[in-house]
Amino acid sequence: MERKETIVVGAGPAGMAAAVQLCEMGFRDVLIIEKESGPGGVLRQCIHPGFGLTRFGKNLTGPEYKALDEERLYGSGAELCFNTTVMDIRQGEKEGIVLSAHTPEGIKEYMADAVILASGCRETGRGALEIPGTRPAGIFTAGTAQAMMNLKNTKVGNRIVIVGSGDIGLIMARRFTLEGSEVLCVVEKSEICGGLDRNKKECLEDFGIPLLTSSTVSCIKGKKRVSAVVVRDKDGNEQEYLCDTVILSAGLIPEDSMAERDIEGLFYCGNVLYVHDLADDVSVSGEEAAIDAAGYLIAKMKGKNFDSKYSSSNVGSARDERRAFLAERNALKLKESSSGRKYIICTMCPNGCRIDADNFTGGRCSKGEAYARNEKLDPKRILTSTVKVKGTGDVIGVRTDRPIPKTLMMEGMKLIRDIEADQSVKVNDVIAEDFLVKGVKLTASDSYRSEKIR
Ligand SMILES: Cc1cc2nc3c(=O)[nH]c(=O)nc-3n(C[C@H](O)[C@H](O)[C@H](O)COP(=O)(O)OP(=O)(O)OC[C@H]3O[C@@H](n4cnc5c(N)ncnc54)[C@H](O)[C@@H]3O)c2cc1C
Repeated sequence: MERKETIVVGAGPAGMAAAVQLCEMGFRDVLIIEKESGPGGVLRQCIHPGFGLTRFGKNLTGPEYKALDEERLYGSGAELCFNTTVMDIRQGEKEGIVLSAHTPEGIKEYMADAVILASGCRETGRGALEIPGTRPAGIFTAGTAQAMMNLKNTKVGNRIVIVGSGDIGLIMARRFTLEGSEVLCVVEKSEICGGLDRNKKECLEDFGIPLLTSSTVSCIKGKKRVSAVVVRDKDGNEQEYLCDTVILSAGLIPEDSMAERDIEGLFYCGNVLYVHDLADDVSVSGEEAAIDAAGYLIAKMKGKNFDSKYSSSNVGSARDERRAFLAERNALKLKESSSGRKYIICTMCPNGCRIDADNFTGGRCSKGEAYARNEKLDPKRILTSTVKVKGTGDVIGVRTDRPIPKTLMMEGMKLIRDIEADQSVKVNDVIAEDFLVKGVKLTASDSYRSEKIR
């Protein structure tokens, strides 16, 4: 059994932040275990912008956000162990915490004084959603579809219905549309959109994709492949949509079934604690959990007790608090949406201020007014997509280095289809100059590493 002072499980943004924080505080015996072949977690497949606004003051894509943390992680002194899945976390018989992991060499056991669980979430599948109908091909969760498109360059379908209006579904609605698929509608059982306002606006409204609230998919049809879905509204009216693909974006489940509850010295952070809206908040929770794990180790040495909001014994109350917060936020959203007031949602930062569409008031800072005026006269967006990597079947994320007129997005996608990047491409490398607009650069949002060496 290998013994470590602290083990971090998962190298997404939460795990990376936790490991770096521990090392920066002077802890030297830190091991991070990750089941994939490299760090980054969900960030690797999130090629869209919207990351880093509060932590770095920049509108980054997921891979760009990952690159900044990855550099710190590699320089931190933490020991990294990839391709290793933790299957079991339990209290040691006499002391410490015992972890069993599946490694490329076989099953291995570790013991640690403190463990930080940063294993993220998994998506709710069709079984849990209990959608009646046949079992044809063509039904994917939104995250799976995102990984297929953004990492494996695989188109999932042509005519798509999305079930659930969570952020992943909204972001994929835009991605499918930009890639030439038709998104017929997003079906949401609640009265309001589940995702962030900025995603509703930039992913659905920009492309005229209907959001059917207070509605459910009551049946999926098709023999080999999906052929249609039936959508039922709250009054029982049904409408059939002919489609070949159904995307599920209806909730995330914490990836913590491998851990016993109430283990002393076990801390939760990031999305395994509860689903955070933003990666920035996830990173902060990783840092805070690391500070508390350090506090615990010091208290233990002195024979004292230590309690933290990130302790495994407090996970239930942290999740209850989050549920209460979301219920309050949704009630507010519902009230505002039924007020009849016309507003423009500012997307300059995650506050998402509602700016009055007529007199441009309502922003918490001056950026709101400027944004709303531009949005009315000349709306602009950052365009993100993928380009092929020469001589491989792989793709790499790209972005415009600044927003371009919204009306040019589809033209930009046509140009992107013919562009290829070299295998030596690194994050921020310029892929094309004067892209659509003079002075606008198309840059790589990730560094290419072949899957074999990743
Ligand atoms: C589609 C989508 C769009 C998003 N858009 C935005 C956005 O615009 N802006 C923003 O700020 N945030 C966005 N987010 C949110 C952000 O990406 C997540 O909140 C964040 O990645 C969660 O970080 P995490 O470290 O908790 O989990 P993850 O990123 O899921 O990382 C968990 C890691 O743990 C590993 N792991 C899991 N189980 C084990 C195990 N048993 N053993 C070893 N390793 C394990 C996983 O492989 C993974 O690498 C988006 C998320 C998604 C899915």
